[in-house]
Amino acid sequence: MTETLEAAVEAADGRSIPQPYSYLRQELVEPDWRRFPGWADVTEADWRSAQWQRSHCVKNTTQLRGVLGDLVDDRFYTDLESDISQAATMSMLLPPQMLNTMASRTEVGGAGSLTDAFYADPVRRYMLPVLSDRRTDWTSHPHATRDSLHEHEMWAVEGLTHRYPTKVLAEMLPTCPQYCGHCTRMDLVGNSTPTVDKLKFITKPDVRQAQMLDYLRRSPGVRDVVVSGGDVANMPWPRLEQFVAALLEIDNVRDIRLASKALMGLPQHWLQDEVRAGMERLATTARKRGVGLAIHTHVNAAESVTPLVAEATRAMFEAGVRDVRNQGVLMRGVNASVNELLDLCFSLLDGAGIMPYYFYMCDMIPAAEHWRLAVWEAQALQHGIMGYLPGFATPRIVCDVPYVGKRWVHQVHDYDREQGITYWTKNYRTGIETSDADALDRTYEYYDPIHTLPQSGQDWWTEHAESSIAAAESSRGIHS
Ligand code: SF4
Repeated sequence: MTETLEAAVEAADGRSIPQPYSYLRQELVEPDWRRFPGWADVTEADWRSAQWQRSHCVKNTTQLRGVLGDLVDDRFYTDLESDISQAATMSMLLPPQMLNTMASRTEVGGAGSLTDAFYADPVRRYMLPVLSDRRTDWTSHPHATRDSLHEHEMWAVEGLTHRYPTKVLAEMLPTCPQYCGHCTRMDLVGNSTPTVDKLKFITKPDVRQAQMLDYLRRSPGVRDVVVSGGDVANMPWPRLEQFVAALLEIDNVRDIRLASKALMGLPQHWLQDEVRAGMERLATTARKRGVGLAIHTHVNAAESVTPLVAEATRAMFEAGVRDVRNQGVLMRGVNASVNELLDLCFSLLDGAGIMPYYFYMCDMIPAAEHWRLAVWEAQALQHGIMGYLPGFATPRIVCDVPYVGKRWVHQVHDYDREQGITYWTKNYRTGIETSDADALDRTYEYYDPIHTLPQSGQDWWTEHAESSIAAAESSRGIHS
């Protein structure tokens, strides 16, 4: 399927109806991990074990070579090493489950036979970035920052971001079972890399959790808690259960969403007996109290949705969670076409029962320009996916605008296409604007990648990058 060629679909009466996207139900496939030399003897029992998956995560190039051997050329490993030493904002951490979905449709031949497939693979492009993926003109946007959403500024207590009026984000821990190259919390999450020293939580986890609960008990206007990280799959189960059980005791908390990319990256975690039984206890209490307990996951490519992911999702429904929803990230080279997005959404919905919900535009973190899309590109994608999925399962493509929050990409207030600056407004105050009389009258900026601008716009940035940053910093004084 291509987007330019209109696909012909046979109608029930035999007429051929040309459509830009042609839907065909796809069966999910678990790629055979034994095709990789390093896993040739791995049994099904090992593969299904969360412990085996965790202890065989790939954390460096040597371990990657141990799995792939010479199926991938040396130039790929060298490219990867260069990225780690010069650009990567996240350290490498890949559960076998995720690595196994890469280059899964290419036949394994002799030495080097998977090199091109690895370079082109959508999951590889964001989980194992190589230096040649990155742009060399503008590697980072001049306005890129480590905490691009300014979450730390909005911490009500350490790790509890209070940005929207009725909802909070609880960053429970700074680790995940897998690290994504584009992680928006690159400032905090994961191990330090040669180019990024990570921020550390200062307060002990149990004290932070007590402070969060205390804040929520004192905040009757907050009804919705995203329990996140990192990834909650890295919390020892009893600690996570204890925290969620305490949330369920707070009258004003009506929605609880557990954020876990591991539902896809390490579904074996969610299939463990301890986790299933614990989720059942929590879901039973939630149902009795009329609280919506849901899981939010993060899948960016159709290839990632395998039978094991569907099985783990089913286990969560059987445990009684109200819904499992996907919040993907829109990235060039990964899922930035109508076909890729719709293939992904149908795999989630038909294959695993996961609700496509949001696609976020990739945030303005350092070294992300090769992934990021312009707002007009995101608007075109939103237009392109309308009408194929049921309305309730048609994801909204959103831009997370600094100091504003999620805005649907068509809500842009003003758009300077030459300089690639969009202007957005908001209808609520964040936690740091209680005494800011102008917060709701001001416009807030988001920036398109410079390489997507006309030449005149690119020239403007070459000349004005520094003054633009200085102007933004001086207006930021208002917020601090
Ligand atoms: S799972 Fe989420 S928090 Fe963890 S690295 Fe990926 S994007 Fe970041």
